[in-house]
Parts: sequence; C-alpha cells; structure tokens
Amino acid sequence: MQCPKCGNHNVQTIQMAVASGTHKFTGIGVTLSGNLGVGIGAQQSAVAQSLKPKDPMRFLAFLSFLIMVPITFIINGSFGIQLLDSTFGFLFLYLLTFLAVGLIYNAIRGKELDQHNDLYHRGLFCHLCGTSWLP
Ligand SMILES: [Zn+2]
Repeated sequence: MQCPKCGNHNVQTIQMAVASGTHKFTGIGVTLSGNLGVGIGAQQSAVAQSLKPKDPMRFLAFLSFLIMVPITFIINGSFGIQLLDSTFGFLFLYLLTFLAVGLIYNAIRGKELDQHNDLYHRGLFCHLCGTSWLP
C-alpha cells in the first residue's frame, strides 16, 4: 500500500490511525463538593480528532434545548398558554424542535457527514503527508 500523493509506504487504515492517536487514562480527582471520584478519560491528537467519526446527536440535542428555552418564554409570556408549564407540553415541543433541527442539519451537512464517516470506516491515512483517501 502506497500514498497516492507522496508515494510513502507508512500508510495505515484511518481507524488504526485514530486508535493510535487516542490515549486513554484513568485519573482520581476531588470535586468541588469534596467528593472523591475516579474517571476514565481519553486524550486525542489533532489528527485523531479530525479523522474520528462524527456524531452530531448530542450537539443537536443541546442546540434544540437552546432554541426551546426562549420559545417557551415567548409562548408563555405573550399568549398565556399554560401548555408549556406542563412537562409533557415542554417535552412534546422539544421533540418537535429536535426533529426539525435534525432535518435541517441533515439537509445542510448530511452528505458531508456520510462522506466523513465512510472515510473513517474504509479509508487510509498517510503518516508522512497527512493525506487521507478511499482505496
Ligand atoms: Zn503521503
């Protein structure tokens, strides 16, 4: 296997390049409230960061929440609707917002995301020039 750009033979699958650029560590810490805790973390190199598969779900869920909060205040304030005071009403609207945000995100970034994740699963990476490609 050879790099198509520089001809170097130091080529690896992207999955292996990400794994070798990720270092797991275990740490012991004390929280602000004085509790002792043990945590497992992962530190990734910039290369591993940029190549690893992307999952926007958590980001979209947070974004939907950020959008929901002012909407809730506007609806409750201007129409006096009590629907959003109930947990069910809030969750229902949150779900609708999440679906809408997901559809919009997919329309804008979906193809790019698929290509990126496909590259992660099947692609190769050159350690000399940093090129990644599909064989
Ligand atoms: Zn190369």
